[in-house]
Formats: sequence, C-alpha cells, structure tokens
Amino acid sequence: MQKKFCMKDCLEIVQNPDRENIKLFVHKFKSTVSLCDTFYFLIHLIKQEKELCERFLIFCPSIKTCSELFSALRMELGQLIKHVDMFHSQSPDTIKEKIKEDMRVENGNIRVLVATSAAGMGVNFKAIKYVINYGPPRDMDGFVQQFGRAGRDEGVAMAILLFNGKQCRKLDEDMKTYVLNEETCRREIILSAYKSKPSPNRIPHMCCDICAIKCACKSSDCSDVVHPFFKYKIPIYSSDSDTDFDADDMLDDTEISD
Ligand SMILES: [Zn+2]
Ligand SMILES: [Zn+2]
Repeated sequence: MQKKFCMKDCLEIVQNPDRENIKLFVHKFKSTVSLCDTFYFLIHLIKQEKELCERFLIFCPSIKTCSELFSALRMELGQLIKHVDMFHSQSPDTIKEKIKEDMRVENGNIRVLVATSAAGMGVNFKAIKYVINYGPPRDMDGFVQQFGRAGRDEGVAMAILLFNGKQCRKLDEDMKTYVLNEETCRREIILSAYKSKPSPNRIPHMCCDICAIKCACKSSDCSDVVHPFFKYKIPIYSSDSDTDFDADDMLDDTEISD
C-alpha cells in the first residue's frame, strides 16, 4: 500500500500528465483481427522507410504478447527485422544494454522497439515519435508513463492505443473510462484523473482524434497530423470498428465491464 502511494506521488512530481506535443488516438479492434493485420501499417512503413523510419515504441501487456508481436514482425519483414528489437524484464542484460545504447542516439539502427512496461521507467530513449499501446495498461499512471516516452524533444509526437475487448478485463476505473470514451476529448479524460484540465488554448487538431474532427482552424497542416496507423490502414480496419458500433462491438464492450 505504502509503496503504491509513494509511486503515485513520485510520478506526479516527475511528470506533468499533460504532454501537449503528443496527439492522442484510440482504435478498437475485434478480437479476431490478427497481429499481422493490426500492425500491417507498420510492416508497410518499415519496408518503405527502412533505416529512415521514424521511431516507434510499442508497449505490450505481457512478455508473451511482446514475443508474439516480434515473431509476427520477423515473419513479415525478413532481413529488415534488424530495425526491430524487443525489450522486457527477461531480456538478458547484455541485450538490454545494447538496446539502450542504440536508442540513446536519434539515428540508431532500431526503429521499432517492442517492449513491456520494463521499458517505461528509468530509460532514456531518443527520438520516439510514436508510442503504441497494444492493449490498455491497467491504470492511468502506467498509461501516462508509457505514452509519455514519445516526443521527449518537444516535437510533434503521437500516441495510439490499439485494443480489443478481451484486453480490457482488469482495468481500473480511469482506464476503463478512457477506453470506453467515444465523444469526450481524450486529454480531458486523462487529466480529469489527475484533477486537472487541458489548456483551453490547445489546438484541436493537435490534441486528439476526437478534437481533430471538430477542428475548424483551416490551417494548412490541419488534416496532416494523422498517425501512420490511419494513413496506411487496410480494408479490414473499416470492416470492424470503423463502422458505427454494430451489435458485435456492443458485445465486445460488455466484456470490459465484467
Ligand atoms: Zn482532445
Ligand atoms: Zn485544425
């Protein structure tokens, strides 16, 4: 209990949960969508951009999922898997050190790091433009900590939560609210968990996918701030959760509140 309180306090002191340079996205899948289909956009991007691919940090809820995703990427990428690595608590120390060293420089060889929460604390990874949470962390502190790895250089960065109903069984109330939300500004929901509010002057198309839809600023970059996941989506995406909440989606939702 005490330990838990201490961690919470430390986190609040260390990190302001409002990271204004990170745009927030959420996308829900049916649980039948395969890993390869979920991460099709990433496979496409690495094949296209290779060593110039912008850096991704992908958080998985378990070592098992982490390994499965890494294997799926290896199958699809062949030689290009050299730009992908895996980091979790069971990784040998020598590997961990090698990864940390590579990730310490902006143009390191690793462009995509698949990791567990072990990569969320006490590491300094450079030039992370995109954080993906594949499955929601159990609590808001963990989530803030993890997506906060993006955009440390204060440049434009994006965080996307990809999930299915089956991954939502053990969430705390704040995370549950975040995951179920379809209308309210995502930043507003995160900050309300910390009794705070987003700046009223924030630029809607930079804030979150929900605010972006309502943005009427008409600036030239208004529609540009899109996560590659949405840029390179394959048809299967539109056949599930892009269609407005059919019966199956509702069924998936009920799994969340068990
Ligand atoms: Zn917003
Ligand atoms: Zn705009």
